Amino acid sequence: MYEDIHDLIEGVVVGSISDDELISWLKLVHREGISEADTITLTEAMRDSGETLSWDSAVSELIVDKHSTGGVGDKVSLILAPALAACGLKVPMISGRGLGHTGGTLDKLESIPGFSVELNSDQIQSQVLDIGLAMVGQTESLVPADRRMYALRDVTGTIDSIPLITSSIVSKKAAEGLYALVLDVKFGGAAFMVEQDKARELAESMVAASKGMGIATTAVLSSMNAPLGCAIGNSLEVLESVETLCGNGPADLEELVCIQGGLLLHSTGLAQDRDTGALMIHDSLHDGSALECFRMMVDAQGGDSSILTSDYSLMTGLGLVDTQLNATSLCVAQSGWVREIDALSIALVCQVLGAGRLELGDSIDRAVGAILEVQIGDRIESGEPWITLYHRGEIGREAIEGLIGTIFLCDQEFEPSNRIHEVIG
Ligand code: URA
Repeated sequence: MYEDIHDLIEGVVVGSISDDELISWLKLVHREGISEADTITLTEAMRDSGETLSWDSAVSELIVDKHSTGGVGDKVSLILAPALAACGLKVPMISGRGLGHTGGTLDKLESIPGFSVELNSDQIQSQVLDIGLAMVGQTESLVPADRRMYALRDVTGTIDSIPLITSSIVSKKAAEGLYALVLDVKFGGAAFMVEQDKARELAESMVAASKGMGIATTAVLSSMNAPLGCAIGNSLEVLESVETLCGNGPADLEELVCIQGGLLLHSTGLAQDRDTGALMIHDSLHDGSALECFRMMVDAQGGDSSILTSDYSLMTGLGLVDTQLNATSLCVAQSGWVREIDALSIALVCQVLGAGRLELGDSIDRAVGAILEVQIGDRIESGEPWITLYHRGEIGREAIEGLIGTIFLCDQEFEPSNRIHEVIG
């Protein structure tokens, strides 16, 4: 074990530590773990391995962000960031691209014609001060240590280590100069952590590291068995996000946005408690103010905000009005109440249709994907569609077969359970 974690990280950045040395350290941490204090030191050292955003004292206590461990149909960031800005917070949101079965915020935003996610640190800072939010990709200079460490973890089977995941995620958020952070740690069949206990362990570790660095941090543990909302696929998710910003979103999605926003508004003292904060977010979705912040961000980042003027222009702008795009609905053979919808199989089918990438660098088709016609707890009659797939050309056998057994009906009415199972911190 390295005596001094700061020396180790400096060696990672300047190249004085070889790949072999770094791999043996990563394997040791993966095998034996490290203490909470060392995790905090590691996270701080990684944060300081590159440029960090810094904020004037007049706004520093308003700087917030969220992180999700990733799910299917998880478009919370696109709604939450403008809603937080509408409530008076400042959001320098640095996000990632989709990989495997989970989508990425940057890919979704790039469905908006002209929208650029490439801003440098000065541009991020001035846009956040000006309009309250920026949603961008990671700059080269932010946490360079993570880039080298993550690449080596990826090829050495050392990704699934709680301290290494913690330091990787929290260092990138901490480099934004945050006052408060909310983490959405998902568990379930389509989550990074399948077991709730493991998700809790990760959430507790990230909350401890982030708080240890002085960031007011909370985490929610939310289930990721069924997709979040109804839309899966980049343009379709932007469409559903705009509907939610207009107050017409699916209940499960709106609830997750309101709860996470409420936690941040409470952490920063803008709301007296979490519930009041959640109501403030709810109001911003229903009075047009969150949509206005979204529109300002689209303008500021070079996007064509005229697509937000009508449903038709939005669908056209997002590439969803396209004669090459075909729709195929799948129907249920029996009547019943929807008990389960398996998010993972839908995500894998959407990936086959072209919505997701197997490797970073693969190109994606932003218009393809799926819309769920029903959600958990809904009644559906025999012969009615439960999902519509948007695809190019003929629908392949692989896609249809991939959805066999994906929806599970029962013959009794029941209340769907809440997405959020626990709040930590
Ligand atoms: N996402 C990250 O950024 N880092 C990890 O280690 C895992 C997920």
